[in-house]
Amino acid sequence: MKQFDVVVLGGGPGGYVSAIRAAQLGKKVALIEKSKLGGTCLNRGCIPTKVLLHSAEIYHTVLHAAEFGVEAAGNYDYAKIAQRKDTVVTRLRGGVKSLVKGAGVELITGEGVLQAADTICVGDEAIHAKSIIIATGSEPIVPPILGANQPFVHTSDSLLELTRCPQSIVIVGGGVIGLEFATLFSTFGAQVTVLEMLPTILTGMDGDVITVMNGVLKKSGITVHTGATVLEIREGQVLYAKDGQEAVAAGEAVLLATGRKPCTKGLGLEQAGIQLSSKGFVVVEETMGTNIPGVFAIGDCTGKVQLAHVASEQGLVAAHNAAGQNKRMHYDVIPACVYTTPEIASVGMTEQAAKEKGIAVKVGSFPVMSNGKSMIVGEKNGFAKLITARDTGEILGAHIISPRATDMIGEIAVAMRGEMTVEELCDTIHPHPTISEILMEAAHDVNGLCIHKPK
Ligand code: FAD
Repeated sequence: MKQFDVVVLGGGPGGYVSAIRAAQLGKKVALIEKSKLGGTCLNRGCIPTKVLLHSAEIYHTVLHAAEFGVEAAGNYDYAKIAQRKDTVVTRLRGGVKSLVKGAGVELITGEGVLQAADTICVGDEAIHAKSIIIATGSEPIVPPILGANQPFVHTSDSLLELTRCPQSIVIVGGGVIGLEFATLFSTFGAQVTVLEMLPTILTGMDGDVITVMNGVLKKSGITVHTGATVLEIREGQVLYAKDGQEAVAAGEAVLLATGRKPCTKGLGLEQAGIQLSSKGFVVVEETMGTNIPGVFAIGDCTGKVQLAHVASEQGLVAAHNAAGQNKRMHYDVIPACVYTTPEIASVGMTEQAAKEKGIAVKVGSFPVMSNGKSMIVGEKNGFAKLITARDTGEILGAHIISPRATDMIGEIAVAMRGEMTVEELCDTIHPHPTISEILMEAAHDVNGLCIHKPK
């Protein structure tokens, strides 16, 4: 029987990062992957969607080039765009493979099933591990809607396989994935309708960010119906109920973006005594340990926060603990991004959440339209908002809707992790002209000392 110190089950951004770190810590490590290294993130999630969205952004820039005094003909070839996505994904996957191998991790291709809390079988081969890290990820939920199993009804997985942009699409679900695809196809000229069951899109995000995004979606011709429950899907039509009335949304394609469920069935977890939640997520401590000593779980299959960078951080925590150290996962400073145009990024508490917790806050904000660099790149919509503790000035959260918001949010994450005060952020010189100045300006605004904010 093969023997390892650590065996990681699943090679997504949780699993492969965990395997490399365990090897860096001197452990003998195996990584079992049944499909493609990189998991959902690299093959069916973060990376392919952003490759497509980047082409959409270029197309949008070309269409609006005249505003910048540049003449350009605007055409696109979706098949070529899809091909580029595959090329980028393949190259990155090759990179992950060489990192894994370079770290000395043994890569085992096949489906792993737990035989016991210290043994995983891949086919006929039993592999013994002192520690096991479960990192099997998640898959799209297909809700029990009449007609949901027809070929023109997609999950994010199958939608990414298209080599032609649909002329019209109904997107069920106004969360992050739904809105990124809405932006993508709308930019390429499709008629897009978003149906969201809850009272708002992007539930849980800052209310002012949602208001701006609603305006942006409307202006770009995307129809959004909130409080809309889908009843049935027929060819070219989605029937839904809103305000007690039945209505129809037309679309040649349909995307179901209604959440993801854990890949924990058939893994032998229950037989090994590992506790699962009622929804099938692996129950974990802050150490990423399960109820069985030596068995850890990380990433989407734990149902904590379904983001790639969270999976990776959980993977690092689990690897250190599997190596005998004592690390804990903290969930209070997690940046979250939406790659719409403009982008959205947030970290920490919203103003609403702070108030619900009874925390006295001071808030500062700064509009994109008053920022020089935003004017240069041609964006008027958006703002940055900082939530700070009234008594101490500690930064509790930031919410940005602006160009490059996703690249800027890391600054606030670092500030929060270092327990910086808003005054310290004010005293940090930001380069000019950059969009990042909106963060510094919002910091000054917390104390009413913003120079460039119009009255
Ligand atoms: P996964 O990435 O799902 O990897 C799990 C791996 O385990 C898979 O490779 C699977 O084949 C393997 N596996 C499962 N069972 C077994 C078994 N029995 N034996 C062997 N191998 C097994 N997150 C972000 O942070 N930013 C984004 O921009 C973003 N965009 C997204 C866009 C879309 C369309 C989607 C669907 C998701 C997006 N996400 C994004 C979420 C992100 O992809 C996931 O949070 C992340 O991939 C979770 O990582 P993981 O390692 O837990 O699981």
